[in-house]
Amino acid sequence: MSQVKILNIWIHNLTMTELIEKLSQTGGFVVTPNVDHMVKLQKDNELLVAYHLRDTYRVCDSKILEYTSKFLGNPIKEKISGSDLFPAFYNYHKENEDIKIFLLGAAEGVARKAQIKINEKVGREIVVDTYSPSEGFENNESECQKIVTRINESGATVLAVGLGAPKQEKWIAKYKNQLTTVKVFLAIGATIDFEAGCKPRCPKWMSEVGLEWLYRLSCEPHRLSKRYLVESLPFFWLVLLQKLNRYPEPELPCIPFSFCPSTLTLKEES
Ligand code: UDP
Repeated sequence: MSQVKILNIWIHNLTMTELIEKLSQTGGFVVTPNVDHMVKLQKDNELLVAYHLRDTYRVCDSKILEYTSKFLGNPIKEKISGSDLFPAFYNYHKENEDIKIFLLGAAEGVARKAQIKINEKVGREIVVDTYSPSEGFENNESECQKIVTRINESGATVLAVGLGAPKQEKWIAKYKNQLTTVKVFLAIGATIDFEAGCKPRCPKWMSEVGLEWLYRLSCEPHRLSKRYLVESLPFFWLVLLQKLNRYPEPELPCIPFSFCPSTLTLKEES
C-alpha cells in the first residue's frame, strides 16, 4: 500500500472508498493525522506507538497536510477527515447487519443524541450503544473497565471514539485487545458532536481550501487558539527542514509496557 512520509509519519495514500473497502475486508484502526497530531507526534511516544500498531491506517485529515505532501514532492490522493469518513462509513454499511457501532466520547447526552440521529438516517439500529465518559476517566481504571464491559456486551463490531487527540488514540491502543467483538476502531475527534448537531461543521468550501482550522477557531476561540496559533507553528519549520533534508527525525520510542509487542511494527512496509 503506498505511503507518503511527512516528518516522522508515513501516511497511507488512499481514497475514502479504498479505505472503507479495506476496513470492510480486514478491519483496522484508523487515525487521522492533521497538523496538531504531527506536532504532538514529535514528542509524544505513547501516541507514536498507537500510530504504529500493525493494523493502523494513518490517513490525511487535513488540507494543509495534503498541500504539504505536494510541497514535498509526493502528493496525497485525498483528504479523509474523521468527520467525513464516519458518515461515509455508516452509509456504506446501511444494509450490512454485521456492522454495529458503539460511540464513545463527547459530553453527557451528546453521544446518545448522535445515536438517535444516525439510526434515524440509516433506518436501523446501526449504533447499538453509547457512553459519554466523565472528565479524567482515562486515569480511572474501574471506569475504563466498565466501558470495556459495556462495549463487549453491546456486541459492537465498530468502535468510534471522539475524545480528541491524543486521548482517543491512546485509549484505543491500550484497550483494543480487550474489546473482543470490535473489528474496526475509528478515532474521530469532534465527529460525535457534529453528528449530534451540537457543534456546527465547517462549510465545505472552507474545508476544501484548507481553512477548517480558522472556522473551528472562530467557533471555539478559548479552547483552540493555543492549539492552532501557537502549538501548530513548529510544524511549518519542520516541513521546511524536511524539504532541505535537514529534518531531525526523533528516535523511535521504547514500547510501553501496556502495549502488546506482537502487535507492533515500527518499521514501515512499502
Ligand atoms: N472529549 C471527551 N472527553 C474528554 C476529552 C474530550 O468526550 O476527556 C470530547 C469533547 O467533548 C469533544 C471531543 O472530545 O467532543 C474533542 O474534540 P476535538 O475538537 O479536540 O477533536 P478534533 O476533532 O480536533 O480531533
